[in-house]
Amino acid sequence: MELNCKHVWAHISDYIDDSVAPELRADIERHLEHCEICSAILDSTRNILVLTADDRTFELPVGFSKRLHERLARELAEEANAPTVN
Ligand SMILES: [Zn+2]
Repeated sequence: MELNCKHVWAHISDYIDDSVAPELRADIERHLEHCEICSAILDSTRNILVLTADDRTFELPVGFSKRLHERLARELAEEANAPTVN
């Protein structure tokens, strides 16, 4: 099965938690190998988790994750409609 970016985003926290099925994990890893966007998201999501796991409480701004996903969705849409000039 070929995953697209949105599939990966939907499962990324489970992937980090290691709670996805082995087949799905393999699909995600295959996608990450060739997708810079998802690799970057994985890195930043991991960093956030590390920060939140720290004893010194790190508060994410409210809506951080929602805004991140909105931004990603917007960038994907823009990519799909990329202008042919400029
Ligand atoms: Zn991707």
